[in-house]
Amino acid sequence: MKFAENTGQAAEYLRQAIPLMVKHNIPPNPLNYALWYTYVSNRVPELNQELDKTLTTYGTCPNLVGEQMFRQHMIKDEVDSAENVQAGLIALVNDLHEHASVTAEETKNYSDTLQDSLEALQADGGPALPLESIIQTLARKTQDISDSTQRFQTRIDDAQSEIESLKAELEKTRQDARVDPLTGLFNRRVFETELGTLLYSGNAGAVTLVMVDVDHFKKFNDTYGHLMGDKVLQYVGKLLRDFCPEPMLAVRYGGEEFAVIMPALTASKSAELANALREKIQAIRIKQKKSGEVISSITASFGVAESRQEDSINTLIERADKALYSAKEGGRNQVQIAP
Ligand code: GH3
Ligand code: MG
Ligand code: MG
Repeated sequence: MKFAENTGQAAEYLRQAIPLMVKHNIPPNPLNYALWYTYVSNRVPELNQELDKTLTTYGTCPNLVGEQMFRQHMIKDEVDSAENVQAGLIALVNDLHEHASVTAEETKNYSDTLQDSLEALQADGGPALPLESIIQTLARKTQDISDSTQRFQTRIDDAQSEIESLKAELEKTRQDARVDPLTGLFNRRVFETELGTLLYSGNAGAVTLVMVDVDHFKKFNDTYGHLMGDKVLQYVGKLLRDFCPEPMLAVRYGGEEFAVIMPALTASKSAELANALREKIQAIRIKQKKSGEVISSITASFGVAESRQEDSINTLIERADKALYSAKEGGRNQVQIAP
């Protein structure tokens, strides 16, 4: 997002933003300042609506919510750039494919010419055509195919450098070390920071942690391929995001494991939600393009643990992990609550 205000306007926004931030107890860090600057400028109406709603709910704007808004509304252009890379790749592959088809067609013609020439040369009773004419045809066609393959080679070289620059662009947009690039969920680092804040802030009350692990995922990859596996992880990530709105926080914990922090929810309420998620995951259907086969065997296991007064991040994760382990032991595709 670009800020195009002149100095006077910018100063006016500053005068309006700071008192609002103070009033709502918002830490005056650069991210928040950008958010509230944008809020008073009213240039992104959806941001204002969302922020108003958050203020009504919480009386303030929790750090994580602010950060998510920042990502969604302020650096959307950067997020979109990953989509641009994808569009660029599609165009590139289409173009290459077209060139490859033309080259293949011309190669086929050339091969036919060679065959015809051979037949003419080996005809019973001497060459069917004057040698001169055969040579002329061969020379012309050989020049054509040489030009054509040369053009294709040049296109491949161009494509290679285009791919390199798309790769670099993609990497740049993915440098955000807090977000998992495959699912778009926050990653384990964010998870630990948030869990720590909730556990150690003293007045947050109990927090429930849900660990999620996709069942027999190694076998899934082996059967349907890694790309299909990635697709499943994206689906699961989207389900978690959609079904665990703020103040819950769903993250990709690593590999085929996810975690959801559910503040202010008891273990049994969280387990109900986990069970709904379990059913949603079980209902995932993916059609394989090649074979037409519909894959319907995706399930996940869940471990739920509610925090105790004395819990640290590690002990809480450990108990949720143990519950997850019993869900696996119990036959998978189920939710277990830690004792
Ligand atoms: P369990 O039901 O006991 O959890 O069995 P599992 O096969 O899911 O567990 P295991 O830990 O043996 O294997 C996890 C697999 O997840 C292995 C790994 O290849 C796969 N995996 C991890 N990260 C990714 C990823 O980003 N994409 C894909 N496609 N697969 C992944
Ligand atoms: Mg695992
Ligand atoms: Mg697994």
